[in-house]
Amino acid sequence: MAELEKLDMYIGGERVKPASGEYFETFNPYTGQPWALVARGGEQDADRAVQAAKAALDDPEWAGINATQRGAMLRRLGDILTANAERLGKLEVQDNGKLIAEMGMQCQYLPQWYYYFGGLVDKIEGAVLPIDKPDTFTYTRSEPLGVCVMITPWNSPLLLLAWKLAPALAAGNTVVVKPSEFTSASTLAFADMVEEAGFPKGVFNVVTGFGKEAGEPLVVHPDVAKIAFTGGAMSGTHVYQQAAAGLKKVSLELGGKSPNIVFDDCNMENAVKGAISGIFAATGQTCIAGSRLLVQESIHDEFVEKLVDFAKTAKMGDPMSMDTQVGPVTTHPQYEKILGYMDVAREDGAECLLGGGKAERPECGDGWFVEPTVFAGVNNKMRIAQEEVFGPVLSIIPFKDDDEAVSIANDVIYGLASGVWTGDIRRAIEIPKRIKSGTVWVNTYRAVSYVAPFGGYKQSGLGRESGQQAIQEYMQTKTVWISTATETPNPFVMR
Ligand code: NAD
Repeated sequence: MAELEKLDMYIGGERVKPASGEYFETFNPYTGQPWALVARGGEQDADRAVQAAKAALDDPEWAGINATQRGAMLRRLGDILTANAERLGKLEVQDNGKLIAEMGMQCQYLPQWYYYFGGLVDKIEGAVLPIDKPDTFTYTRSEPLGVCVMITPWNSPLLLLAWKLAPALAAGNTVVVKPSEFTSASTLAFADMVEEAGFPKGVFNVVTGFGKEAGEPLVVHPDVAKIAFTGGAMSGTHVYQQAAAGLKKVSLELGGKSPNIVFDDCNMENAVKGAISGIFAATGQTCIAGSRLLVQESIHDEFVEKLVDFAKTAKMGDPMSMDTQVGPVTTHPQYEKILGYMDVAREDGAECLLGGGKAERPECGDGWFVEPTVFAGVNNKMRIAQEEVFGPVLSIIPFKDDDEAVSIANDVIYGLASGVWTGDIRRAIEIPKRIKSGTVWVNTYRAVSYVAPFGGYKQSGLGRESGQQAIQEYMQTKTVWISTATETPNPFVMR
């Protein structure tokens, strides 16, 4: 067998081999075969990357440029990304199993985060305070935090990185990224584009490897100021605890069990499409998956029939083909986990209306495919309604009226997103007020934008990404006091 290509880390502007000398395989989920080897980073590599980022922080090439110049660099990065969108999209399909149909659009949209925050950089203003002391001039300035570590999951590596990286660089920080061990290739390829955009050496670094070996040494490193993490609730909680020991700033984007609520006054055709996009798009591997479909009893049977009929038509197969609608599961452990949850749902008494197992279709080959699956008769107390599956598995839960819909919607530990399908303006306004989630979509689903803040209520996370306020997650305020008095008054009295 031909030797696999080795993908090295990116530290201090150089391609760097791991201190351990070890590499691990990264797989193509459509073939189930390894296609490259990724550097297995550890503590020494993490330290080297943090030192590079720390040195860059005070380097006049970075610290000495003004906000407008930083903004121009970010916008140049956006242009370079646009020029490389197709190449990055194809790489992600190979490493991640995402659909080319989705990646094409995602990679074209990705640069917008760099344009938006590139444009925002020189609009961040301090304030001169109307201070209540005589002979005093007091003002505030917004300053970067320092070295920021970004830990990303496997489902949308470059998009979820952009949500963190664009505001962090705009604010003048330096960065070390630890991508998921399952999908490191696109972040490593992206490093070349950051370099081409003119960011000085050490401003952006990538350490690859496993969470415990490469991620944890970054989280506990004394020279790191902030951790921006996207991933599962268990690892997120662990990262939060570890970061607390060093009093680091932390933002967390974690899991979800989002309700998609269908009222009997909705446009049924649109709501069916909304339910499908909520759970089967991206093979259900999204934090915002509308995995609990709450359907009003009066339309339940008719709606479920239409939904199952539509879901049956979903085309599976090669993610590189433009007409494929449901691709493989990205990782083998995730594939096993999804199949396990299908058994849990059946054992707990849910009724399987569609799918319910591996996809053994010829067009799926040896890939890690599961059938789009619909369970009806789900009770919100069941595990399938409470736990994040992160796959194309839908649980349908009936409800009587507005109060019951809201009560079921909120009865989970998560609060990331939700959907409401209604033709009634009163419901469209009142129901979102009552749902405890960071995003509510009404008569649409799965829309995100660089303009719109995104983040979780409850155990779905801390902090917000995208939108103007996101830059504040990467800045701190300094207050400067200047006395204009000619004489310093009594030193034993507080001013
Ligand atoms: P994961 O938690 O297993 O891994 C995420 C990242 O954390 C990986 O890079 C991993 O190596 C790293 N990691 C794991 N343990 C660590 C540790 N002890 N110290 C430092 N780093 C560590 O998550 P995953 O399986 O890659 O991704 C799926 C999860 O991500 C789902 O729960 C999903 O809901 C969540 N997610 C959330 C959002 C959001 O914006 N809220 C977006 C996408 C995915």
